[in-house]
Amino acid sequence: MSSRKATVVGGGIGGLTAAAALARGGWHVRLHERLPAVRAIGAGIYIWDNGLFALDAIDALEPATAGAHVAPAVEMRTRDGKPFLTIAVNGKEQPRCLTLLRDQLITALLDAAQAAGVEVFTDSSATSVRPDGTVHFAEADAERADLVVVADGAHSRLRDSVDLAYTRVRMTQGAARMMIPAAAGTLPAGDAVRHLEHFHGRRRLLYTPCTPDQVYLAFTCDADDRAVDGPYVDTDAWSRSFPGMAEVLRAADGVPVTRWDTFEYVRLSRWSRGRVAFLGDAAHAQPPYLGQGGGTAMTNAVALAAAVSRPGVTLPAALAAWERGTRPGVERTQRTSYRMRLLNRVPDGIRNTLIGVAGRTSRYTDAQLAATRLRPETDSLTARPSSSKETQ
Ligand SMILES: Cc1cc2nc3c(=O)[nH]c(=O)nc-3n(C[C@H](O)[C@H](O)[C@H](O)COP(=O)(O)OP(=O)(O)OC[C@H]3O[C@@H](n4cnc5c(N)ncnc54)[C@H](O)[C@@H]3O)c2cc1C
Repeated sequence: MSSRKATVVGGGIGGLTAAAALARGGWHVRLHERLPAVRAIGAGIYIWDNGLFALDAIDALEPATAGAHVAPAVEMRTRDGKPFLTIAVNGKEQPRCLTLLRDQLITALLDAAQAAGVEVFTDSSATSVRPDGTVHFAEADAERADLVVVADGAHSRLRDSVDLAYTRVRMTQGAARMMIPAAAGTLPAGDAVRHLEHFHGRRRLLYTPCTPDQVYLAFTCDADDRAVDGPYVDTDAWSRSFPGMAEVLRAADGVPVTRWDTFEYVRLSRWSRGRVAFLGDAAHAQPPYLGQGGGTAMTNAVALAAAVSRPGVTLPAALAAWERGTRPGVERTQRTSYRMRLLNRVPDGIRNTLIGVAGRTSRYTDAQLAATRLRPETDSLTARPSSSKETQ
């Protein structure tokens, strides 16, 4: 086994992918998650081409996507359900976009990491990191690694412990998420299999089939919208906003919200300092209007592991090459997604026409789909996994 040691902080999408990819690149990896278990919130997730590519690079594609929904299109609609932009997906020469359960994704990533030999420590909260690779923990001795990957999310505590300038914006919008049973007949059959995003005022209602039995709903609105205040969504108020979705919303009545998240935007002045690299929401959080926060986290994690696992390259050179190679693509997506918040301020008629017209220009779709084309070189991630370790 290689003597190069990596410590990964955070057992979310970014940290697990980085850990699995590093282990496949020959690193001895210890991953620390502050919660008692590595787990996901109960919701669905869109994984586009780039994320699917990253999953494939760590041998997690099949378990992550087994039974996932393969929709024919992602569609933007008026409050009454009239489509104004349709992006065809999953056909020949079209972008791939699968929707799946977050639980299944996280389980597949954890399994891939452990199969590659990653040691996973739960209930293990990192408190600070130093550029020399030392990580301090709340209730354990400090550890020192040749490389530390910080993927502790948008609220990153470790980001504050190194001297890195960054911009963090807590946006006015957020989303309440829930899963509902897929109920036959609540939508016409052709609609029920599509991803439908309805717009009205500052509200958006996202309908996402994820498995044959489950549909993921996201209620996007301002953080002070009373109709998402508390453990349940006010489905009557949302039905008044989106009358065409009243039947679906009836199925959501009384279903608890799994989580509310206020959207975040984070941009670091640089992605690494010394032996410490940042990725995922800790480094490039973005509002989920493009469904790419997780996808870019996974792509970037695989890119990082490939860069630092290449033989004969020093760590500083590898980190510089990683950032140079990946950052423009990730940030282009992040910028596009962040700009899309401006659409919330525009009256329905103007916004819908604007998106409908712009959506037919290649420049707009190119910006929207830029991240789907991110493909790091993965030639250095071929090492056979060492023995797997148990979760503590
Ligand atoms: C409403 C909504 C919808 C979204 N939809 C999509 C989508 O469809 N597709 C998509 O690709 N992305 C989507 N995203 C974005 C995606 O969820 C995030 O970009 C992704 O989860 C970021 O992963 P991460 O690993 O960087 O951070 P996180 O998922 O936040 O994971 C961080 C982990 O670090 C742990 N941690 C934190 N602090 C410490 C510490 N000090 N020590 C140890 N562990 C620590 C946390 O417990 C957590 O497990 C969406 C986001 C939102 C809010």
